[in-house]
Amino acid sequence: MPVTAATRHLDDRYQVTIVGAGPAGLAAAVAAREQGAERILLVDRDAEPGGILRQCIHSGFGLQAFSEDVTGPEYAHRFVERVLERDVDVLTDAYVTDVSRDLRVKLMSPSTGVTSVETGGVVLSTGARERTRAQIRIPGERPAGVMTAGLAQKMVNLHGYLPGQRVVILGSGDIGLIMARRLILEGVEVLGVFELLPHPSGLGRNVVQCLDDFGIPLHLSTTVIDIHGHDRVERVTVAPVDEERRPLTDQAWDIPCDTVLLSVGLIPDGELARQLHLSLDQRTGGPVVTSTYETSLPGVFSAGNNLHINDLADWVSQEANVAGAAAADVALGRVRARQDVAVTPGTNVRYVVPHTLSTDLTQTVSFRVKEPIYGDTILRVGEAHRRKVRAVVPAEMVTIKLGPKVLESFAGETLRVDAIPAAAADDLAAAGDDEQ
Ligand SMILES: Cc1cc2nc3c(=O)[nH]c(=O)nc-3n(C[C@H](O)[C@H](O)[C@H](O)COP(=O)(O)OP(=O)(O)OC[C@H]3O[C@@H](n4cnc5c(N)ncnc54)[C@H](O)[C@@H]3O)c2cc1C
Repeated sequence: MPVTAATRHLDDRYQVTIVGAGPAGLAAAVAAREQGAERILLVDRDAEPGGILRQCIHSGFGLQAFSEDVTGPEYAHRFVERVLERDVDVLTDAYVTDVSRDLRVKLMSPSTGVTSVETGGVVLSTGARERTRAQIRIPGERPAGVMTAGLAQKMVNLHGYLPGQRVVILGSGDIGLIMARRLILEGVEVLGVFELLPHPSGLGRNVVQCLDDFGIPLHLSTTVIDIHGHDRVERVTVAPVDEERRPLTDQAWDIPCDTVLLSVGLIPDGELARQLHLSLDQRTGGPVVTSTYETSLPGVFSAGNNLHINDLADWVSQEANVAGAAAADVALGRVRARQDVAVTPGTNVRYVVPHTLSTDLTQTVSFRVKEPIYGDTILRVGEAHRRKVRAVVPAEMVTIKLGPKVLESFAGETLRVDAIPAAAADDLAAAGDDEQ
């Protein structure tokens, strides 16, 4: 997917500058252009735009955006084409090192050197980072062969190398599940996926299609408690955990292997957000945003995994459509939508994005539950919205679209977002108390 129209010379000033050309950045660029911005710069540190999708060669993308099941690179390619058709300046191989509070974007690249551009609006779409061994503190030796699942995916799918021959996967996040299948297809022995929690962290469809269909065992409530090997991993010790997630060491066993892949979660890449002193949400790790994904610094927007960890690229694109269009509005001096309703996580909800809503707009509220509910579940946004769904699990993001009319009578209020078993909701309603 070469970017034939890649930019070599930059203007001093752009109306909208977008940092990161994954699905979020690409969609934001298209939306900013459609909204009337004419000078748009899209910057990425990689050699090609597309973000993490370039290494996701499996299908499962685009069901919402295109009503079609496409691979990650195909999904990215469709957006890259749209961007190039719209005469956006795309600068690849360029690292944004700094965004100042007066909206100067500093970057460095082999083609431009160290330089900076002034901009009317910025979209931060820098994606996420994988949690590493250091962040989950697995004891043991420090041999080669321990790496994140995303790095292994990059090695296999982009560079044609195998990470090892006998692999143990710690964590059942989507990247680990996808890599379990990918490695089996490459002839590698995948000895099992070990998950600390009593439920998988990845999407249900990935558990079925990547593990069950290939006979790869998933050990829930089990973790790696030790890694052995001097130069290279030789074996790991795994153990079941109790309800407090403490390893039951008397039931531990050893597995000979040469590689440990970690799929233990993603964290929004918050470097620029922190530099800018944006208000951050401790629950998501990303910025606090309005209904148009504007952060606490006017003119700076955040979308995609930089804002919160999305399960589907399609949601990322939708979010970035809003952010890109709003960044163009700000750059063109248009009036912002009112932000007159706040939302906050309530019962069984880990986080909610965005943090404020507008009675001027139709907007999407996205959230994740803390605990799975396998049965009829009531989703509520205060008294403004109530819907029954068949089940909810933490791995699957929930989205609710709210129109301005629905919110009109709640101006000035804070609405709690809840996800509770339908039976419990009925009991509460019967008791005349619909809150928990
Ligand atoms: C293994 C895996 C499997 C997945 N499977 C599916 C699936 O089947 N279906 C689906 O819909 N979704 C899937 N997803 C999710 C989807 O890929 C992500 O939600 C999506 O890619 C996030 O988009 P993003 O634009 O926010 O971030 P990214 O795609 O990570 O893009 C961020 C970009 O920002 C750039 N960047 C970061 N910092 C800087 C900087 N300072 N300067 C310049 N550039 C910078 C990076 O180089 C990168 O290109 C999967 C994800 C993974 C990892």
